[in-house]
Amino acid sequence: MITFGPVPSRRLGQSLGINNIPSMKICSYECVYCQVGKTKRHIQQRVSCYEPIIIYNSVKTHLEKLQDVDKPDYLTFVANGEPTLDVNLGTTIKMLKEFSLPIAVITNASMLFNSDVRHDLMSADWVSVKVDSAIESIWRSLNKPILSLKFNELLSGILNFSKEFKGKLVTETMLISGFNDTEDSLSETAGFISKLGASLSYLSIPTRPPYIKTIEASDENAITMAYQFFTKYGLSTELLLEYEGAHTGFTGNAMEDIISICSVHPLRKDALFQLLEKDKADPVILDILLQTEAIQKVEYNSESFYVRKFKF
Ligand code: SF4
Repeated sequence: MITFGPVPSRRLGQSLGINNIPSMKICSYECVYCQVGKTKRHIQQRVSCYEPIIIYNSVKTHLEKLQDVDKPDYLTFVANGEPTLDVNLGTTIKMLKEFSLPIAVITNASMLFNSDVRHDLMSADWVSVKVDSAIESIWRSLNKPILSLKFNELLSGILNFSKEFKGKLVTETMLISGFNDTEDSLSETAGFISKLGASLSYLSIPTRPPYIKTIEASDENAITMAYQFFTKYGLSTELLLEYEGAHTGFTGNAMEDIISICSVHPLRKDALFQLLEKDKADPVILDILLQTEAIQKVEYNSESFYVRKFKF
């Protein structure tokens, strides 16, 4: 189940998700707030995931099943892990151009030191790079990069990419209480981002359950301070503080729709029940998915979410 949605995106409207990392989570980071769980393969070497034609066919079939009203605004690479670890990413993006939809990639930016990765992303129309902190010790404790990643290479990789990329570049900074919401961190982060010429800088907080349950979003004072630092550095800044909404596209196969969305995107209870209704599916499907441990229920901020449960 490579494609999912479209799901409402706070940045991209209706976004047809492409999960180009198969089954378990593969990432160069293990962010404390990650919504797809603990990293199972913590690597920085690119690996072969799906053949590009497999992803192409999956997108094609998915688009054909959607009703006109659910046609997506973007095809978005958003994986259960880091999409640029897929060595076939560039070829896949080029193949997907055939659908005449803009292509977005949400990356943690850790691989941008690699010129092949930067080259692959040149064919995308919109790229979001994660910059949670421009202070190394905070980056290490918050994003938990694989130890072989070098901080100076991370920053120079992002800078090089920002100079080379001709599409729309945005940044995202996830604000986490007690980690990157201090004056020092916010000032350094805003200062670094101001060198990138990004069209927009998003300040966000977790709106879905993080894999470490004790992690908390920054409070209103810290969010306000972050906004002030970012605007002081001349950054066009938007806050992403709300849940995106429950409307998701559907394919008629409720079980597949739920599993594929939950693999990269915890699904809030109301969204899941709307999906069952649109797929004209028996709600007993939810019991089956829970009993077979394909998904599990998690409580967060007084809401129930369903997340994928991987078996190894
Ligand atoms: S939030 Fe993104 S970059 Fe961080 S661990 Fe999760 S998948 Fe990796």
